[in-house]
Amino acid sequence: MAAPPLVDSFGRIHDNLRVSVTDRCNIRCFYCMPETNVQFVRRAEILDFEEIERFVRVAVSLGITKLRVTGGEPLVRRDLPALIRRLAAIPEIQDLALTTNGVLLPELAAPLYEAGLRRLNVHLDTLDRERFLRITRRDDLGRVLLGLEAAKRVGYARIKLNAVAVKDLVEPDIVPLARYARENGFEARFIEFMPLDAQNLWDRSKVLTADEIIAMLSREIAPLVPVPDPDPRAPASEYEYADGGGRVGFIASVTKPFCGNCNRIRLTADGKLRYCLFALEETDVKALMRAGAADEEIASLLRRTVAGKWEGHAINSAKFVAPPRPMYSIGG
Ligand code: SF4
Repeated sequence: MAAPPLVDSFGRIHDNLRVSVTDRCNIRCFYCMPETNVQFVRRAEILDFEEIERFVRVAVSLGITKLRVTGGEPLVRRDLPALIRRLAAIPEIQDLALTTNGVLLPELAAPLYEAGLRRLNVHLDTLDRERFLRITRRDDLGRVLLGLEAAKRVGYARIKLNAVAVKDLVEPDIVPLARYARENGFEARFIEFMPLDAQNLWDRSKVLTADEIIAMLSREIAPLVPVPDPDPRAPASEYEYADGGGRVGFIASVTKPFCGNCNRIRLTADGKLRYCLFALEETDVKALMRAGAADEEIASLLRRTVAGKWEGHAINSAKFVAPPRPMYSIGG
């Protein structure tokens, strides 16, 4: 008999697990990481592939069917295709996706595809080399574009471009990026800047809103029409160009929070469970696993974590407290 689903006290069913496989990264986006002196978790504290696979198998027994592999930058984790192969072999996983900055994609697009990965989100905020350098502190735009070419050639299904929309910085990039996505059959997704950076740079005035971007694209490219979300619990609200030129997604966490439908839970690279990107507390599943706990104990820890989930982030309220962990050590 199937185990009851993972439901929180607001009645939200959780079937989507985000697994961070490392907190390390090969670029330094200013809205995520400090340029220098980044505190990374010691390697011994990072879950190994057996532990990740074991946790995922326990999670799928409780109804998890969607899996997203994240980081830091997941492609810097050695032998990542071997982990993808293990996860792709779990029959209950209906959707296996990965978010990457694309810098190592020229070499890894094919091995990851052969290992069973079919969905990619590539983080790209600009097509301008100077601004790429300014945002990421690395001169790797060329590699990311090569990586996208490789991913297209290999045959990944819907490749999405995740662009973080920081105001007074990326406005010149919005239309060129959207055009590039249209021309290449990618789906551009604009993400409102969230208070998750390691240096507390965030404030509301730096948020280029989804509505502002929709207006910009409708004016400059073609009118955007909302389309019914294939999965209303997915974070992005979907639009399509009236001229049939494809789709665009908007993750408006700040101006249009979607916590009411949240179905996501996160596992950090060092084995902590987080019921929300902005959670101020987390539970330690690694300690339990390394103490020799049985699968049932891990399952009940997962259940308790979901049961204790809050209603949603409080970014728009005076009582908002930024999580103690920055984005790179949580995962997208
Ligand atoms: S902010 Fe937290 S509760 Fe809201 S959608 Fe994101 S993960 Fe879910």
